[in-house]
Amino acid sequence: MAFLYKADPARGAQWAKLFAQKAPDLPFHIWPDLGDPAAIRYLAAWQPPEDPTRTFPNLEVVFSVGAGIDQFDLSGVPAHVPVVRMIEPGIIEGMVEYVTQAVLTIHRDLFDYGLQQHQQVWRELPLKPASERRIGVLGLGVLGTAVLEKLRLFGFACAGWSRSPREIQGVDCYAGESALDQFLARTDILICLLPLTPATRGLLNAELFAKLPRGASLIQTGRGPHLNQQDLLAALDSDQLHNAILDVTDPEPLPAGHPLWTHPRVRITPHIASATRPESAVDVVLENLRRHREGLPMLGQIDRTQGY
Ligand code: NDP
Repeated sequence: MAFLYKADPARGAQWAKLFAQKAPDLPFHIWPDLGDPAAIRYLAAWQPPEDPTRTFPNLEVVFSVGAGIDQFDLSGVPAHVPVVRMIEPGIIEGMVEYVTQAVLTIHRDLFDYGLQQHQQVWRELPLKPASERRIGVLGLGVLGTAVLEKLRLFGFACAGWSRSPREIQGVDCYAGESALDQFLARTDILICLLPLTPATRGLLNAELFAKLPRGASLIQTGRGPHLNQQDLLAALDSDQLHNAILDVTDPEPLPAGHPLWTHPRVRITPHIASATRPESAVDVVLENLRRHREGLPMLGQIDRTQGY
């Protein structure tokens, strides 16, 4: 029985060290060192190899090393092999920090002050109380919920949107397509924390931007293909959107000279909003291996029919 890691080798070396301490009886391999392929029961990957069960006939679980599984070709993983995405404290804390700084940057007009500084202008802008700033989070999963729980503490008017109805204390929850327009109409700062699925691909487009109040802002921390980048540029240029903070783009990185790189009201970071932290990730994986052995549901096991 062995565990195979197939992602960034430097992180793999960190995982190997942690496995050696915490699960010394479970042999740990880093791709492309497979050992005996028939011994591989567990695979942790950013992208699994094509047709993994042909290479590893005794494969029991596939783990994603990231929070999303949109980069997986699920058709290559047979239905009897559960697929588990990464939910661990490091990813959650990183995302809460990133979105909080992005919201405060927008809320406290730091884009506008940056432009003023560039022109050597010293001018106060009116200060809006947090209670008058309406935050809206697309996606009320592990990350969306954690982000809202933090933002609520600043006093922002908080809302969120999900597929099925949710209840979060102090947050106005909207569910399903029929509630989307109402949610958008009350949102000044829109944050995308959706998984990428056929239903959410391209959702951030001209039609959606037009339903936000004029001068709204976008924080895009989902996946690049959620956003129609041409529509974003048009919405910024018409002032329908005031500014945007993008942690993800399509492609990553954007090609040299792409107008988003230099747009004065766009800030781009290289998909760093949050990252798996090896120490806590290994603990979660080992806990899931225990649950799997005992026939219990694993944390982060995805619903193959929904694709997330
Ligand atoms: P979860 O699976 O826990 O939550 C997803 C949420 O999105 C759920 O509330 C779900 O609704 C909602 N949702 C899914 N599809 C739809 C739809 N069609 N319409 C409305 N709502 C929908 O995911 P996480 O919170 O853990 O992660 C969210 C995403 O964040 C990841 O998939 C990834 O794209 C992104 N991410 C980005 C990172 C970065 O560094 N930029 C790092 C980590 C994650 P319901 O509650 O009804 O199921």
